[in-house]
Amino acid sequence: MIKTNAYAALSSTAALAPFDISRREPGPDEVQIEILFCGVCHSDLHTARNEWRNTVYPCVPGHEIVGRIVAVGSAVRAFRVGELAGVGCMVDSCGHCASCAEGEEQYCENGFTGTYNGGPGVENTFGGYSQAIVVKESFVLHIHHPEAQLAAVAPLLCAGITTYSPLRHWGAGPGKQVGIVGLGGLGHMGVKIAHAMGAHVVLFTTSPGKVADGKRLGADEVVLSTDRAQCAAQAGRLEFILDTVAAPHQLDTYLTMLKRDGTLTLVGAPAEPHPASAVFNLILKRRSLAGSLIGGIRETQEMLDFCADKGIVSDIETIPMQAINGAYERMLRGDVKYRFVIDMASLR
Ligand SMILES: [Zn+2]
Ligand SMILES: [Zn+2]
Repeated sequence: MIKTNAYAALSSTAALAPFDISRREPGPDEVQIEILFCGVCHSDLHTARNEWRNTVYPCVPGHEIVGRIVAVGSAVRAFRVGELAGVGCMVDSCGHCASCAEGEEQYCENGFTGTYNGGPGVENTFGGYSQAIVVKESFVLHIHHPEAQLAAVAPLLCAGITTYSPLRHWGAGPGKQVGIVGLGGLGHMGVKIAHAMGAHVVLFTTSPGKVADGKRLGADEVVLSTDRAQCAAQAGRLEFILDTVAAPHQLDTYLTMLKRDGTLTLVGAPAEPHPASAVFNLILKRRSLAGSLIGGIRETQEMLDFCADKGIVSDIETIPMQAINGAYERMLRGDVKYRFVIDMASLR
């Protein structure tokens, strides 16, 4: 066993605190990664506080993991000791259902194994708020960004793929008018990636203070979603809208901005449902309301390679592990541009 320093929540009301865990020795098809940085995702906070009512304690969050491979099993072919590597939201899946067979492990019909908080029928798993992790090589990603950018690559493993996958699936690209709702951890990646794909990007934000930032990140237009006239001007204009907001809000505002056959896709996960939409907003222009969950391993690698090629990383603020509880409070206030990343050197 590999003794590993970590930070854990021991109950829904406890602050995260130092906690020792043990990692297994890598098996033949597994790699051991020294974690160098881990992004702080809103799901970490939801899970640490049991807001989705499925948390198993102790809870060691973190699924935006980047680091260096320090050991590989005898059957590992794709990775070598010393290489940089990443781990996202999944560490295993059944491998034989229809979704797994198509490389869409995030929709595994038997439930994938989460990087933390395991999942139905599996033992609890511990995530990236720790010094080391041991993962099957088929769930490990190659990182081709320059090493100096490593901290800012970490959020690509969740925020990056969560936005890249639906943008690809619904065909964002040249000649397409794409809306991104919300400029937070997910939204700022959505703007960067949609822009790099060549789409015309319209960002929707409630914050006048984020207009300039939205344009800097790649938005062609920034619309204040609290301004009725600005929203009305977008009616029937967009082919696709990616809604990253994780608080209940009126979806009709955005459905009416879609062209015929347009799609509004939700990736934010609010604890309470959105108010119901007017069905006629869907019927009259054959519009769709959809959802999307992260992306498969193959597509996550494609996203990392795309971002390395286009020079895309996340805008981050680096913190030591000891600052995590304060960072959660700031995240709840929206006081982060645009992702916290923990420097794991602080755990040594
Ligand atoms: Zn996440
Ligand atoms: Zn499966």
